[in-house]
Order: sequence, then structure tokens, then C-alpha cells
Amino acid sequence: MQNSIHPVSIEVSNSDQVLEIKWSDGKESVYSLFGLRKNCPCVMCRGGHAYMSEFEPGLFFVDNPPKTDINNIQQVGNHAIQITWSDGHNSGMYRWETLRFLDPDNHNKYESRR
Ligand SMILES: [Zn+2]
Repeated sequence: MQNSIHPVSIEVSNSDQVLEIKWSDGKESVYSLFGLRKNCPCVMCRGGHAYMSEFEPGLFFVDNPPKTDINNIQQVGNHAIQITWSDGHNSGMYRWETLRFLDPDNHNKYESRR
């Protein structure tokens, strides 16, 4: 079931500092760009292979976060997007499962680590 859920639309607004995903099951997720950047799933950002599944969803709730822009989004196969950030970083493959897990609706600002 997990594998069948996929985005039907992905929209970025650098001016609103959000990325919005509409999913095939009708769910809509809105992510702050700062939170997404900070939860970049690449090895370097996660701090090593041992921490690949550890994220900090609380960072989606930071007030007045530093402006963080997306330069480009590219789909990778049928399972992920690769985001190129304005700071040049683009190693993170955001898999659908990861994005669904990170959805701020599943978390609160007091949560730092899974
Ligand atoms: Zn990264």
C-alpha cells in the first residue's frame, strides 16, 4: 500500500517558503522549506549511515526561519524527488515514504528526533 501512494502535484513557492504536495490518496502536505532543507535525507546531512532514518521534524515549526530557496526539483524514478537548494546542495533524494513521514501534520514543534 505504501508504494502506491505518490504525489499527483508538487508545487514550490520560494516567496511563501513552502513546498506543497498533493498525494494520490487525497492528502495534502505543506512543508516549510527550512524544515525540508534541515531534514535533507542525504548521508552528509544526517550525520552518517547509522543515522539515515533519524530526522528532526520539530524544525518544520521554527518561527521566522532563515530564508531557504529551492532552485530546482527533479523527479527520480517513481519513488523520490531530488531538490537543488539555493546553497547548491542537491545530494538529498526525498523518497515518497520519507516525505509522508516528515509531513508536519504527523509531528509537533516539541519533537526533535524520531
Ligand atoms: Zn543533504
